[in-house]
Formats: sequence, C-alpha cells, structure tokens
Amino acid sequence: RYKKKWAMHLKQNTGCQQALDHFDAFYKPFYGDKWPLIRVSLLSLSKHCAVINKFADPEKARLRLSNLGADDLVKSARRLQGQLEQEALTEQTLSHNSVETSSERIPELDLVANENSFNRSYSSLYNSSPRESLLEKSQQKVFCEDDRVDHGLQTGQEIDPIYDELYKDNIDVFVPTVQVLSERDQLLKDELNLNMFEPRNIDVQVQRPESINIARDIEAFAFPAGDVSQFPPAKSHNHRFGYYLMDAASVMPVIALNVQSEDQVLDLCAAPGGKTVLILQCLDLSAGGSLTCNDNSPSRVKRLKSVLRSYLPKDDLGQVEVMQLDGTMLNHCVYNKVLVDVPCNADRHVLTEEENNLFKPSRTRERLAVMEHQKKLLISAIRCCIVGGEIVYSTCTLAPAQNDGVIQAAMEELLETSQIEVAVEDLSPLASMFKDTFTFFEKSRYGQTIIPTLLNNFGPSFFAKLRRIK
Ligand code: SAM
Repeated sequence: RYKKKWAMHLKQNTGCQQALDHFDAFYKPFYGDKWPLIRVSLLSLSKHCAVINKFADPEKARLRLSNLGADDLVKSARRLQGQLEQEALTEQTLSHNSVETSSERIPELDLVANENSFNRSYSSLYNSSPRESLLEKSQQKVFCEDDRVDHGLQTGQEIDPIYDELYKDNIDVFVPTVQVLSERDQLLKDELNLNMFEPRNIDVQVQRPESINIARDIEAFAFPAGDVSQFPPAKSHNHRFGYYLMDAASVMPVIALNVQSEDQVLDLCAAPGGKTVLILQCLDLSAGGSLTCNDNSPSRVKRLKSVLRSYLPKDDLGQVEVMQLDGTMLNHCVYNKVLVDVPCNADRHVLTEEENNLFKPSRTRERLAVMEHQKKLLISAIRCCIVGGEIVYSTCTLAPAQNDGVIQAAMEELLETSQIEVAVEDLSPLASMFKDTFTFFEKSRYGQTIIPTLLNNFGPSFFAKLRRIK
C-alpha cells in the first residue's frame, strides 16, 4: 500500500507532464546527446535580457543596467564580428602570399564567390531522418509479447515498428497494432506523422549575405554566462518604460530581419509586442518608415496596444497601424520586411503552466493542427512581401516539424501552386557573431535554432530568413 500523492512513480496526467513526455519522444531522437542538457535547462529558470527603449531615457537605462553588471550582447557580437573580419582578412592575405595552393577545390565556395548564391542539395547534412532511422532499426516485423498486454494489445498481435522503437526507448506511448482502427490510435498515428520532420530534397537557392548589418539602435543587456540574476522591473521616464524584458533568444529574429529606418514592416503575429518594441527601435516613422502590426486575438491586441502606449511617444504611436485580422487571410503585397512569429508549442510555457496548456489531452486536435496553421501564416507572410523583400519566420519551440518542417512545407506548396519563388538566406555568419552568447544547434536546415543551456538559459528560438525572388 502507498499514499497516491507521495508515489513518485505514478506520473500525473497534467498538460506539463504530457508536454515533457512528448518532448522526450520527439525531441530526444532529433537532438541526440544534446537532449539531456537541453531538457534540464528547459526545466530550469530561463534568462532574460533588457532591450533598451530609445523613446525613454536610453542613457539612464544603460547606466542602470551596467551598474547591475549586465552587458550589451549586441555590442559584444559586433566586437566579435570585427575580430572575425580581421581574422578572415589575415587568412586571405596569408593564402594569397602562400606559394603552395591547395589542389582541392571547394565548389560551394567557388559558387559563392561568383554569384553570391548557390543551390545546395541538403541531403549531406542529414544521414537519415529520425523516422527513417527508427524504421531502419526496426526492419523486421514486431509482435506483441506478454508483457505488453496491459497496453491494450493481445499477445502475438503485430505492432507498428515505430511505436515499438519508442516503447523500447522507455517512452511512454500507447503501442498500437499495425491495423490502426480506433480514433485514439488514429490520433497517435497523426501525432507521429505530423511531428516527425522528414527532410526532403527540394531545389532551394541559398544566399549567403555579402555583409552582416545589425540595426544600429538595438541594444539588449544580459547578465554574463552563469549569472542567473533577474532584472528589476523597468522604471518609466516621461510615462515611457526604459527597457523591455524578454528572452534574449527572441531578439535574434528581429536582428535577422535587419530593419532599416525607412523600411515598410509587417509584424504578422505581433501580440503582446516584445518584438514589435524591438522593430520600433530600428525604424524612423517620421522619415518614411512604417509599421503594421497584426494579431487575431482580441485580448492580445489589447495587450499589444497597451505595450505600445507604454513604450512609444504619442506622435509615433499614431503612426503605427494595429490590425486584428486572421493573418492567414492577408495578401496585401506592400511590405519589404515581414516578421512572422507564429504560435507554436511554446516549449517553456507548456512545461511550467497548466493554464492554457496546449498539451492538455482535450487540445490534442488543436495541437496537431498547429503545423498547418504555421504554414498558412508563413505563406501569407511571403505573399505580403514585395519581390526583393525579406521575411523572417520564427518560433520559440525546438520541434523540428514546426521549424524546418514548416519552411519546407511552405516552399513545396508555393512551388506547386504559385509563381512565387523564395531563396533561403544562410544565417550561419550571423550565428557565428553571437556564438559567445547563444548555443546554436548545428543541424538546422533552413534557419538557426538556439538551444537552452544552463550557463546561458536563453531560448529556445528558431528563426529562418527568406528572400522573395519572384
Ligand atoms: N511576436 C510576439 C511577441 O514578440 O511578443 C509573440 C507572438 S506569439 C508567439 C503568436 C501570436 O500569434 C499570438 O499572439 C496569437 O494570438 C497570434 N496568432 C495566432 N493565430 C493567428 C492568426 N491566424 N492571425 C494572426 N495572429 C495569430
């Protein structure tokens, strides 16, 4: 006999527990030996940064944050960029002066040098997809043994080999038979098929940027690695707050968008407005720059408006357009920069908050529809962008299907159904600049993934940049 509430081996059927089980099933095979550290980091307190609001008293805020021991992570990245450029220059000079030349040509680099863009087949990046590798491991037919009859199976029944692999991996999934019949089984099958990112070879043009610009007005202060201090709430100056607290990894999608003062920007899923505040630091609304922010949730649009009021002077406030529309329906093609920061698993939130938890069993169907919704939002963002303009897609999840998977699905759909063409911008030079602050997962295909670590518990954040070329 035992007291149920003390029985640690009895898992609670909460949204948070469901989320953790799901991550173990789907993130662990993808992130491999990095998963245990990511897992413990996700379950620990996350780290924030303070984004300076240039519309308040930036000098005062800078001083306050420096006195607390925080540093501007963007400034550090710029410093590192200077060093990297210097190193590259020295290397170039050395190789130019060197008598011995390498006979081995690097075709990719040749192409970059010629036209600054190249088509790359990604097949070499992955040995096989997680699903393929699970299948490889289980080529033979699997039959139910006695010890699994409590999972709703009968001895001798044929089992779906993929579920069998997950089961062997101690992942607590119901193991359906090959003849999938019940609705519950179908949901599990969908769960598996929709959440496993299967890389396919599509002809993608990858562009490497000639140079990296970081909008001059972005300043984000963070405590050094290993320092888990928390920032005090921002003080207001002239009725405007001096800084905005957000996960430092969320700054990166806006940095990647590289907003310039006269850009025409659309923030498609803007509420509650953290990234909007950042975009506004870069724009000059009185010199031709413009910002339209949109969100389909009435309560969140209310919050967004309140954030804008707390960070912007009245004159600028009047120039920001706020819309409350379904972002999948927009196709007004007038913007040259579009941010599409989609709703996603929100890994941190679902591990800590029961309220509004996407992993509650009652929300399974809604959760399985998320990838389709993200794809529609991304396609809409691309349609709203003029030819030559840029789109940044971002999430705060590690789910490969919601990151690379959505980019791949959107590009495939556009190829099949439209004349629109996009190129992917290679963000690895940008990631190199920030490598002292963030840990990037090296196997992301189309974008960059920041993985949380205990030393710098930022993220997760995935961001990819597309350029509309047709
Ligand atoms: N960019 C925001 C920030 O930095 O504060 C966070 C955005 S949050 C990850 C995703 C947002 O997308 C939510 O506010 C949600 O209401 C909104 N959303 C979901 N579906 C949408 C749709 N069809 N059209 C527009 N917004 C949508």
